[in-house]
Amino acid sequence: MRVEFLGGVRTVTGSATLLEKGSLKWLVDCGMFQGNKEYEKRNWNLQSYQAKKLSFILLTHAHIDHSGLIPRLVEEGFRGKVICTKATLDLCEVMLQDSGHIQEMEAEWQNRKGKRAGKGEAIPLYTREDAEKSLRSFQTIHYDEMIPLADGLKVRFQDAGHILGSAIIEIWVDEAGDQKKIIFSGDLGSSDQPIVRDPSIVEEGDVLWLESTYGNRLHKTREETVQELLKIVQEAIAHQAKVVIPAFAVERTQNIIYTLGQFIRKGSIPQIPVYIDSPLAISATEIFKRNPDCFDQETKDLLMGGDNPLEIPGILYTRATEESKAINEDPRSAIIISASGMCDSGRIKHHLKHHLWREESHIVIIGYQAEGTIGRRLVDGASTVRLFGEEIAVKAHIHTLGGFSAHADQKGLLDWISHIRRPQLEVFVNHGEEKVSTELSQLISERFHFKTTVPQWREKRVLFGDGETGVSEERVGKELPPEESFSVLFRHLDRAYKRLRRKLKREKKRGVEIYDSGWLKELEEVSKKLEELESEL
Ligand SMILES: [Zn+2]
Ligand SMILES: [Zn+2]
Repeated sequence: MRVEFLGGVRTVTGSATLLEKGSLKWLVDCGMFQGNKEYEKRNWNLQSYQAKKLSFILLTHAHIDHSGLIPRLVEEGFRGKVICTKATLDLCEVMLQDSGHIQEMEAEWQNRKGKRAGKGEAIPLYTREDAEKSLRSFQTIHYDEMIPLADGLKVRFQDAGHILGSAIIEIWVDEAGDQKKIIFSGDLGSSDQPIVRDPSIVEEGDVLWLESTYGNRLHKTREETVQELLKIVQEAIAHQAKVVIPAFAVERTQNIIYTLGQFIRKGSIPQIPVYIDSPLAISATEIFKRNPDCFDQETKDLLMGGDNPLEIPGILYTRATEESKAINEDPRSAIIISASGMCDSGRIKHHLKHHLWREESHIVIIGYQAEGTIGRRLVDGASTVRLFGEEIAVKAHIHTLGGFSAHADQKGLLDWISHIRRPQLEVFVNHGEEKVSTELSQLISERFHFKTTVPQWREKRVLFGDGETGVSEERVGKELPPEESFSVLFRHLDRAYKRLRRKLKREKKRGVEIYDSGWLKELEEVSKKLEELESEL
């Protein structure tokens, strides 16, 4: 079997892996690259996805960083099925069309700007209509169902506890008479997240793709985080100020609605206006209400008891733009939940423009902020940010609350992987920033002695094949940007060093003392050279 890492490696966006078994080719996830111009360029060059030759796409969940390039791939000739859970399809219906709309708006904006600069016409990556058309390729399956997809190939989706409908995908393949199992963790939820269930446990597998968004961090507990949010809201109410919460439309928004609903139901805060100012979040909340079979027990109990966990007395859903603009004219305290979650597009930008410079306002960051986004700049303590071409001072209170995350933290990831009892498990650590994936990879290798790798973008590998799998030759060419060439080289060096150490140790154990002055001299020179290079930097 061959695989190619097409995205979601050394970055959190663009998740996609190409798998090939004989002439059968398929993808697991087909996400959009976001957050930085260099990455976004990749969305336009999908040749290596081989759209026309793919038999199917297995989709872990609806987030755009996993599903966002599906309409584009259909445009490029993909005629197979996109296989996912029903809730994922429901969410993709609104999210992909919304994404198409954003692409159209962006192209329009570029064109307005470009015309003035005398540039050529910008076209959208795909349109709302393309997105709608692509939905016809979707085919839904149930959790825990074993589905044969081709000769010697079957799959099963299990709940990943990340967002509604999210899945861990298990793939069984027959390889030369042997059955092997591949696992894609997808994005894994944290275990005390409300509404959705905890991630399913997987105990067996030969190869694992493991996400690492928070692979080097620990979240505060949900209870601590809830208390922090309560304090922030109470303080805002005391000063008649507003609380602005940038939130991803799916899961995080519903998570916050659930939490604020509890504050009001318990009487911890008075009934104040809570605006859900994101058409996408409103649609997503409706989809949540339509899929109660995906809820965890606590949420089901609330529903049975007559409390809708996704309703708050005083909640105001604003779909129209005029309503959205009026929110900030109201002098009373209010809570504004709006998208995008990383603050770089959508209505949240208007609310930030109104509130960042006000000392009394509170901005509560509850989700992951990718490098290069406005949200990340706020978390990193920027004193000004640029919004709509204007430099805005950051005077408001900026709070970062990690405990609302829809992702498992380092401990959650290690706990989850600890259930897999296969000493020969090979782990590809993906869906994380380079430094984070590398840290988690090292930790897993030390703790569980699994073979771990942080793959390169466009790296190709042979799975279950004879001999050492490795970086494909084409990757070591000189077309690589220097930092990538270095990391390829370092991996080779690292491996060679480890192999040599292992062999020497083995020999020593066998009682063979290797003492070769020629060897020692050569190694001494390598070591000296490395020190020299390091001091030159
Ligand atoms: Zn996700
Ligand atoms: Zn993701």
